[in-house]
Amino acid sequence: MAYVIPLWSPPALPVAGGAELFPVRRIFCVGRNYVEHQKEMGGDGREAPFFFTKSAHALVPGGGRVHYPPKTSNLHYETELVVALGRGGRRIPAAQANAHVFGYAVGFDMTRRDLQQWGKDHGRPWDFGKDFDESAPCSAIEPAARIGHPSRGAIWLTVNGKERQRADLADMIWSVPEQIAYLSEYYTLEAGDLIFSGTPAGVGPVQPGDELHAGIDAVGELRVTIVAPL
Ligand code: MN
Repeated sequence: MAYVIPLWSPPALPVAGGAELFPVRRIFCVGRNYVEHQKEMGGDGREAPFFFTKSAHALVPGGGRVHYPPKTSNLHYETELVVALGRGGRRIPAAQANAHVFGYAVGFDMTRRDLQQWGKDHGRPWDFGKDFDESAPCSAIEPAARIGHPSRGAIWLTVNGKERQRADLADMIWSVPEQIAYLSEYYTLEAGDLIFSGTPAGVGPVQPGDELHAGIDAVGELRVTIVAPL
């Protein structure tokens, strides 16, 4: 059967060290998964993490230029470990969850903080604050077959050379295997799904011209330049 409009390419991320691509199906994101970030967002340090989603079409594969989005005056970065699932499943026990992971990457959960706050204040969805064009820059995926399953190691971000975020993956409230186990109770997870695993403290605004440079030990680095709106 033919399609009535041109078929698009599936969103995909490069895989480090080769020419192959990782096709992306869905993007799940964890909110408030580091205690110090939970506190800076108004929590008491004891609230459980929660999830929201972004479209796979929001990816900016490999980073690079990101246009300042419309309808915001408070665009924030959030530096996150990204988990790429190579195998799906439902009701996956945490003890077996790592076997479902293809690899890991460095991502930015870009956020229109003012629109997210409006949603919170009015009991409305977060989509306009979180799920918009170019809101998910992401590095190449480093395969777990090469680096294993990092549960500790530095996660950091500089903006124009000044350090803005620094923490350790071990500071996560919910570990990656716990995130996979929890999500798989609610969804049938599939190969190609990504999980953005939450950001440490130190989130803040960016402007056109700003240079973001992030890294996670053993996983990789991500560079983004914010450019003028479309
Ligand atoms: Mn986030």
